[in-house]
Amino acid sequence: VHSKLPKVGLTIFSKMSQLANEHNAINLSQGFPDFSCHPKLIELVHQYMLKGSNQYAPMTGVMSLRERIAEKTEMLYTAKYNPETEITITAGATQAIYTAIAAMINEGDEVLIFTPAYDCYEPAVELNGGRSVFVQLNGPEYKIDWDHVKKLINQRTKMVIINTPHNPTGTIFSMQDMQKLEKLLSGTDIIVLSDEVYEHILFDGYEHQSVARFPKLADRSFIVSSFGKTYHTTGWKVGYCLAPKELMVEFRKAHQYTVFSVNTPFQYALADFMNEAEQYLTLGQFYQEKRDFFLEAIKGSRFKFHPAAGTYFQSLSFADISDEKDTDFAIRLTNDFGVASIPISVFYNINHDEKMLRFCFAKSKDTLARAAEILNRI
Ligand code: PMP
Ligand code: GLN
Repeated sequence: VHSKLPKVGLTIFSKMSQLANEHNAINLSQGFPDFSCHPKLIELVHQYMLKGSNQYAPMTGVMSLRERIAEKTEMLYTAKYNPETEITITAGATQAIYTAIAAMINEGDEVLIFTPAYDCYEPAVELNGGRSVFVQLNGPEYKIDWDHVKKLINQRTKMVIINTPHNPTGTIFSMQDMQKLEKLLSGTDIIVLSDEVYEHILFDGYEHQSVARFPKLADRSFIVSSFGKTYHTTGWKVGYCLAPKELMVEFRKAHQYTVFSVNTPFQYALADFMNEAEQYLTLGQFYQEKRDFFLEAIKGSRFKFHPAAGTYFQSLSFADISDEKDTDFAIRLTNDFGVASIPISVFYNINHDEKMLRFCFAKSKDTLARAAEILNRI
C-alpha cells in the first residue's frame, strides 16, 4: 500500500500507556485523570438515555449545549458567538482540529506550527496536501520569537496553529503574544487555528488569553476546546469549535461528512451540567494543588523543573541523572522503576534531545505520592 503518512506509526500516547500496563507502572504518560468525573454528570447521561435521547443529534450539535457554550464564552472572554451559526459540537478537540484543517487547507498551502507541538496537527496538514512549517520554541521558557515567525510568513501561508496553555511544555501565551500575532496577521488572509483545550487550567493567577478576547484575531480564527479536559471525561470525546459564520459554513461542510454528529445523551448531560455547576471556574485551582503537591514531593530529587503555568503536564529535566536519549530513559523509567512518562523529543519534527520528560499530574494524591517516591530514588 502506498502510505499517505509514511512517517507515522502508533502514537507515543498509546505506546507509553501500553508499556505502563505491561510493566504495571504508574502511568503519568498519556494525559487523562485517574479520578472520576462529577457523579451528577453520569446521572444526567443515564437519565437522558432512559428518556430516549439515543438517536442522532443535530449535525451541528444539541442546541442547549451550544447555548451554554455561547454564554460561557461571552462571560469569560466577552465574545459573542451565535450558537446557531458559529458553534459546532465535535467528537473531541481532535476531530475539530482535523475538520478545520481539512476544510481550509489546499494542496501546497503552508501551515505554521510551533514545536514542540501536540501530535495531531502535522498529520492532518499532510493528509490534506498542506506543508507544515515549524517554528521552534526554545526552553526553558518556550517563548515565541515573533520576528522569526514574521520571516516565515509568505504568500503560501494559509494557517497558523497556536496552542495555549501549551501541551507539552505547560507554557502560556501572554497578552503581548496575542497582540503580536494580531499585528502580524493584519492585512493577510491567514487563518488561525487556536487549540485551547486547557483554557480553564492556568496557575498562579494567570488569565487565559483566548483568541476570543481579540476581535480582529477572532474574526479569522477557529477556536477549539474539549469537555474531556474540563470535566475529567477524556473518554467521552466531546469537544467543540467556535468560528465566525463564514468560516463555520466551510467547517460544517467537512464536519457533516466526517462524523455528521456527535453522541446525543452526553451532549444533553453536559449542557445541563454547565447550567448547574460552573466547575470550570475552579479547575485552575484544583490542578494547581496537584502541580504543587507533585513538585513539593519531588523537590529533593535530581530532576529539575520550571513549574508549568498551565495544562496538567509538568516537564522534568533528567540532565543531571543520565546522558541517555529521552526515549530510552522514558522506557527504562517505565520498565525498571515503574513510572511512565512521555519523552519530549516526540513533539518535535527534528532530532531533539533536551533530556526532558513530560509527566501528567491529573492524578490522585496517592498516585502522585507513589510516583514521587520512586522519582526521588533515581
Ligand atoms: N489538543 C491538545 C493540546 C491536547 O492535549 C489534546 C488531548 N490530549 C487534544 C487536543 C485532543 O482533545 P480530545 O481528547 O478532546 O480530542
Ligand atoms: N492529549 C493527551 C496527551 O497529550 C493524549 C491524547 C491521546 O492519547 N491521543 O497526553
